[in-house]
Amino acid sequence: MADKKPFEIARETLKRLTSQKLPPTPLNYQRIYSEFSALPIESPFPADRLHDISAALPTKTPGQQKQKGLLESAINNSNWDGVKSALMAYGGFSPPAPVHTAPAAPALVDDRPAVAPVSTRPTAVKSDVLAATPISAPALTSEFFGQIARLIEYALPALGHDDPRFLEQTQVLVKTLRDPNCDAVNVKQMIAQYSQRLSFAAEDQAEIKSVLLKLLHLIIENISHLCLEDSWLKGQVDALMAVCEPPLTLRRLDDVEQRLKDVIFKQTEAKARTVQAQEEMRQMLTTFIERLATMSASTGEFHTQLETSARLIEHAKSIQDITPALKEIVGATRTMAQDSQDARDQLQGMKKHAEATQAEISKLHQELDRVSAQARHDPLTGALNRQGLDEAVKREVSQVQRQDAPLSVALLDIDNFKKLNDTLGHATGDAALAHLASVTREVMRPQDSLARYGGEEFVVLMPDTVLDNGIEAMVRLQRELTKRFFLAGTEKVLITFSAGVAQLACGETGPEAIKRADQAMYLAKRAGRNRVLGA
Ligand code: GH3
Ligand code: MG
Ligand code: MG
Repeated sequence: MADKKPFEIARETLKRLTSQKLPPTPLNYQRIYSEFSALPIESPFPADRLHDISAALPTKTPGQQKQKGLLESAINNSNWDGVKSALMAYGGFSPPAPVHTAPAAPALVDDRPAVAPVSTRPTAVKSDVLAATPISAPALTSEFFGQIARLIEYALPALGHDDPRFLEQTQVLVKTLRDPNCDAVNVKQMIAQYSQRLSFAAEDQAEIKSVLLKLLHLIIENISHLCLEDSWLKGQVDALMAVCEPPLTLRRLDDVEQRLKDVIFKQTEAKARTVQAQEEMRQMLTTFIERLATMSASTGEFHTQLETSARLIEHAKSIQDITPALKEIVGATRTMAQDSQDARDQLQGMKKHAEATQAEISKLHQELDRVSAQARHDPLTGALNRQGLDEAVKREVSQVQRQDAPLSVALLDIDNFKKLNDTLGHATGDAALAHLASVTREVMRPQDSLARYGGEEFVVLMPDTVLDNGIEAMVRLQRELTKRFFLAGTEKVLITFSAGVAQLACGETGPEAIKRADQAMYLAKRAGRNRVLGA
């Protein structure tokens, strides 16, 4: 039919419609037209419907915006292939690779986990962006992988260095990306895993920054309130200095923030009360001085009166001459006695008031001491106290659940400490406790926490640590203590301890793990002391 002109085909189609007695519908016309012309039936391009669909698609990400542009242009050109590939990219699928790209081209598209992580973090590698810009196989060259490796290395300093597992994963990925024979499917999988970890690290960094800012505000606020004891200022400045030592970790910042909040609150409250008590004292002192002045003035008058009367008596010639002088003396003495009585009453009242104020002030100081003890650190050793430990345990256990990382706890108890106290004195015992805490802090990693559990018992929390490594860490501490003697004056004293270590089991609470460590410590004591046992 190639020689037939369109108007001839149209005329013949109408003729056939009539001869076959078919209703003249568009469908019948199209069918006869197709039969007669031997051309396939081509349904009309539903541009309007497709524009409607396109308008309803989201355009939140740059990738989505790009795909929408491609879709619109494909619709305008009635290009079904273009529509297909744009819609596939929206759905997270890459269009089929052209036949000549024989080796399976890994489409770096949607690596979203089946259940999205509960987080508001800006996920480092947005899967929909990747999905929206499918990468063809030839682009996946070693140069491209090299660029990803460089990108990761550039971003790394901003993500902190305090997570060894993340660092290790980074190194492995970068190494793989730089391997000229690397397997693209493997790389895709690694990037998917890495992106999740990366998003955690990025979230931690953002949180560290915001906590730092809050700390700064707290400190400035606190300095404006400081006016009591210098030791307050010193303690806080020390804590701040300690926390400013790199590496910064959220758990350390959190500690300081809590501590400063407590101190500021109590200090502000105590300060107001102390200022009021001081004002009362000042007023009492003023009254007292005024009273003294009045007394000395009335005593002076009394003396003058006596002298005048004595002179009168001296020159008196008769008893009648003496009578007025005597009356004067009796009157002046009575006034003087009355004044003294008043003054004594008033002074006694003031003394009582002063004593009450004094008691109030010393109560305030006791309260401040109590508050400092209640804060999360033990004043003698600087280790966390029980409250601080409880909070640290909660934090670490939730971290374990979040990251599925191991946590070990050690409980150590100094050997024969009573004997040390008895022979060298309690004050030396105190210094020995502080020595042990300071050596422990130096030996442990920055992310470990040390807490004073009881008199001479300490707990060490070791995140990211399996049981064997926890035991090793305690043995290392024992070794360090044999090198770093405690000096009691000039006498070298060897401090030893027995310890139990437990790794938090699945479903176990922090206190339960500490209890197991305690039982292991008890067994270590029974086995002869100066040893470490795993629970
Ligand atoms: P063991 O090896 O079995 O642990 O013997 P020990 O003597 O260490 O244990 P015991 O529990 O009998 O004694 C602990 C001592 O620790 C008793 C207590 O006086 C002392 N102690 C507790 N707290 C402090 C403190 O803050 N300072 C000082 N100097 N001594 C303390
Ligand atoms: Mg003990
Ligand atoms: Mg002991």
